Amino acid sequence: LTPTREITVAVAREKEAPFTIEQARIRPPQADEVLVKVVATGLCHTDLIVRDQFYPVPLPAVLGHEGAGIVEQVGSDVTALAPGDPVVLSYGYCGHCAQCTSGMPGYCDQFFGLNFGGSDTEGNSALADAEGEVLHDHFFAQSSFATYALVKQANAVKVSADAPLELLGPLGCGIQTGAGAVINTLRVRPGSSFLALGAGAVGLSAVMAARVAGATTIIAVDVVASRLALAMELGATHTINTLETDLVEGVREITGAGTQFALESTGRPEVLAQAIEALGPLGQIGVVGAPKLGTTSEFDVNNLLLGGRTIRGIVEGDSVPGVFIPHLVELHRQGRFPFDKLVRFYDLDQINEAAQDSLEGRTLKAILRMP
Ligand code: NAD
Ligand code: ZN
Repeated sequence: LTPTREITVAVAREKEAPFTIEQARIRPPQADEVLVKVVATGLCHTDLIVRDQFYPVPLPAVLGHEGAGIVEQVGSDVTALAPGDPVVLSYGYCGHCAQCTSGMPGYCDQFFGLNFGGSDTEGNSALADAEGEVLHDHFFAQSSFATYALVKQANAVKVSADAPLELLGPLGCGIQTGAGAVINTLRVRPGSSFLALGAGAVGLSAVMAARVAGATTIIAVDVVASRLALAMELGATHTINTLETDLVEGVREITGAGTQFALESTGRPEVLAQAIEALGPLGQIGVVGAPKLGTTSEFDVNNLLLGGRTIRGIVEGDSVPGVFIPHLVELHRQGRFPFDKLVRFYDLDQINEAAQDSLEGRTLKAILRMP
């Protein structure tokens, strides 16, 4: 199948360079694929670290992994979706390895290849640029900084027709990561204490989820005052600005013995090391923030051991997208998970402005509307 349909895409051509808006072509869906007309796509910190090559996705590439849109066309083997269905796109997984079959697709044997490989599993791309040259794609099994995207039915989650589709793309990654880490992984309990390291899109999703879960002490940590103010609106009971207050001392002052639960989303090894110190006895910390490959962090072994503390890496909030995303849509509809307060909309051709605003802390969750 050759790329025939004309589409508009944002391309990451070079490491650390701005995205370029280009015309490209996409091929039709294969038997097990769905072509989605993208309505809007969230911008996640992970798009920017891949553009900057923290992870070695081959360039030039079409990134974008928080897409939402309408099914346009389905391949002959697709049974769960039909043209016209509204869908939220999420990450790719094989569906048949030990982790996928035990309900943990975020740890799929093929996760890296399917989400960061830059092509399908045979090394083929579905996109060509205006000169007919290959654009690397299949980013998070979608490459949705584009007016159309090809996905498998397993990573396109059907949502109800009256859901606010334009808003929902970030549920497919950043928001399900923060919320899922709290609800699915840490299983934060009613009456407990929770510490969010980083009050970005992921951290604030965790704050909202901790309130849903019934935590009664919710501490948000950041270096951006406006983000901490929003955290208080979304359910935090305390904030710590680490430019002003020592993290470990601040947490001990609020909790006494230390926090029961924590989530590290700053991607900074020194914050992780301090957060481990801020855990109480039997405290658990989830790690979702992603530094450069090879980054190490240090902690006191006996502090971990004698306190019975746990450190756990988490991909995508341990979410099964088809189960968890509809839960978040319903919590939002009921007003209990107001993630729309994080969002600012941009047009696709403002992607570099959206990226800059995100990096400089002015925008929490940018969503790019497709032309
Ligand atoms: P973000 O940039 O919006 O949030 C990070 C926050 O950390 C920012 O508010 C920043 O001000 C704060 N911060 C930075 N340094 C700090 C410090 N020293 N002390 C306190 N706060 C500090 O990014 P995001 O979209 O919320 O994503 C967070 C991280 O999660 C990124 O590393 C991203 O790549 C990663 N991520 C992981 C998964 C996963 O599956 N594990 C999924 C999505 C995103
Ligand atoms: Zn992401």
